[in-house]
Amino acid sequence: MNTQLLSPGTDTYILASDILKSGGLVAFPTETVYGLGSNALDREAVLSIFAAKGRPADNPLIVHIHDRKQLESICEVPERAFPLMDAFWPGPLTILCVRKPAIPDEVTAGLPTVAVRMPSHPVARAMLQACNLPVAAPSANSSGRPSPTTAAHVMEDMNGKIPLIIDGGMCDVGLESTVLDLCHGDPVILRPGGVTREMISSVLKCDVSVAGSVLRPLRENEKALSPGMRYRHYAPKAVVTLVQGPEDHVVPLLRKLCLEQEARGKKACVLCFSEHVEQLSACHPHDIGPSSSPTEIAHRLFDVLRRLDEEGMEMVFSEVVPPEGVGLAVMNRLGRAASFRTIQA
Ligand code: AMP
Ligand code: MG
Repeated sequence: MNTQLLSPGTDTYILASDILKSGGLVAFPTETVYGLGSNALDREAVLSIFAAKGRPADNPLIVHIHDRKQLESICEVPERAFPLMDAFWPGPLTILCVRKPAIPDEVTAGLPTVAVRMPSHPVARAMLQACNLPVAAPSANSSGRPSPTTAAHVMEDMNGKIPLIIDGGMCDVGLESTVLDLCHGDPVILRPGGVTREMISSVLKCDVSVAGSVLRPLRENEKALSPGMRYRHYAPKAVVTLVQGPEDHVVPLLRKLCLEQEARGKKACVLCFSEHVEQLSACHPHDIGPSSSPTEIAHRLFDVLRRLDEEGMEMVFSEVVPPEGVGLAVMNRLGRAASFRTIQA
């Protein structure tokens, strides 16, 4: 299949809409990462998303809408979701709702809940409006690779597998949406993202908990609240190790660990804050952004992780951020890229 890479515009939206209506797949930019979309109501189309990504069938998809009116036919919305929709939609917050029969089993992996989100990216909104369908879309990467934050990343993984990629430039947030469960009692963040625990808590005026497996591996026999958390994700091919501790210990330890690996003939590098790039210049530093801006780190992270593969890195040592605000989402993705392997400096 020939994969077209097109700029946004009326003709592109008409083409995207035609493809979606006839059961095809379209990759499109959102404010979080690029999505790989199909008509959420078309079982066969949804199945082809799993095939294109190599995604396990038990990992459900998020349904994207442009208008709250679309919710009625696909789900029942828990009461507490409305103030959150008022505050954060359109935007990077996915809310679990009770699924209605219009949504095929394939979207929800058989779960009684369906995850829904209204993206804010103007290209995503225009495409959703043009087709006027609920669009099921996971991230547009091959399963197991870091999510795509540019059209070039999507091309790396999807060239030849889908008919259309809409190029909307680099995604703003850079990490996938926050997934929030309001269907099973107290609110629980299943996956942290750009809408933070603190932001949700201030709207709901109550504590919001975070699924245990966000910052550690799933324990044996522990059930994943969000099926996606079971899988090795966000992972470059290199062995990644996180280095934690006071700054004046971390930087020298990063240098030592990296140089030791190089002495053993391994291709090694460090992921470090902008302010440490110079001090670590002997260690192929990859600048993840200033330590003062977890938002900037989120924006860059997946691009940096993808570059490690291109460069054939084997051993990678990374700085960490405090797991607060957007830092929680950064540490979830970095932690999983490292299989939560951490060294204390
Ligand atoms: P992706 O769109 O690739 O970012 O993946 C969607 C994420 O949402 C995965 O981690 C899924 O496990 C999660 N998800 C989607 N639907 C549900 C659901 N009904 N219950 C729990 N998690 C869900
Ligand atoms: Mg994904």
